[in-house]
Amino acid sequence: MIRAMSVPSFMDLALMAAAEAGKSGEVPVGCVIVRNQEVIATAANRTRADHDPTAHAEILALREAAAKIGSERLIDCDLYVTLEPCTMCAGAISLARIRRLYFGATDPKGGAVESGVRFFDALSCHHRPEIYSAIGESAAARLLHEFFQERRQWAPRLSVAGDPLKPLAAASPYAPSKLASLLTGRPGLYEKSQTDLPPACFVPHP
Ligand SMILES: [Zn+2]
Repeated sequence: MIRAMSVPSFMDLALMAAAEAGKSGEVPVGCVIVRNQEVIATAANRTRADHDPTAHAEILALREAAAKIGSERLIDCDLYVTLEPCTMCAGAISLARIRRLYFGATDPKGGAVESGVRFFDALSCHHRPEIYSAIGESAAARLLHEFFQERRQWAPRLSVAGDPLKPLAAASPYAPSKLASLLTGRPGLYEKSQTDLPPACFVPHP
C-alpha cells in the first residue's frame, strides 16, 4: 500500500502510476522525472496497450521529459522508478544524463543496476547517475507480487487433467514436446529430426 502522507513523495507518485498501470493489466511499474523539485514527466508501463516492447515506464517518462525541456540531455533531472531498471532503460537513463536514479524494488531476473549486467558499472557506460536503491521498496514489491499472484491464479485454468499444456497443445500445430520447449524457452530441446518448425525457430544446440 502506498504510504499515507499529506504530501506524497516523488516515489509515492511513481507508485501511484504503477498501481494504475496494474489495474489495466500492465506490469505495475511507474516512473516520475523531477527537475528543480517539480515533476516534469510521469509514466507507467504501456507495453501491452501500445503493443510496444520498449514502452517501459522509464522510456516513456524520458521521452516526455526530453520533449518538455526541449533537450535530449536531462542533466539536472532525477528519475524515480518503482522497479530496478532493465538493461534497455539503464542504457536510456545513461544516454539522457540523468543526475540521480532512485529505484524501489530490486529485480534479480530483469534488473541491470544491482542485478544482471550491472550496466552502470560497465566500461561501455559513459554516464553513471548517483544511484539510490530500495526507496519505497516494500510498496513496489507488493504491487508486483499481487499483480503476478493474480496472474498465477488465472494460469491454472488452462490446465486440463493436470496437464497445463494440453489445451494449448490441442490448438497448436506443434508436437507437445516442442510446444513445451517453446513455452519454457528451451527450444534446443526439440528433436533435430523434426522439421515442422521453420529453420529460423531453431536455436543451435549441440
Ligand atoms: Zn526497462
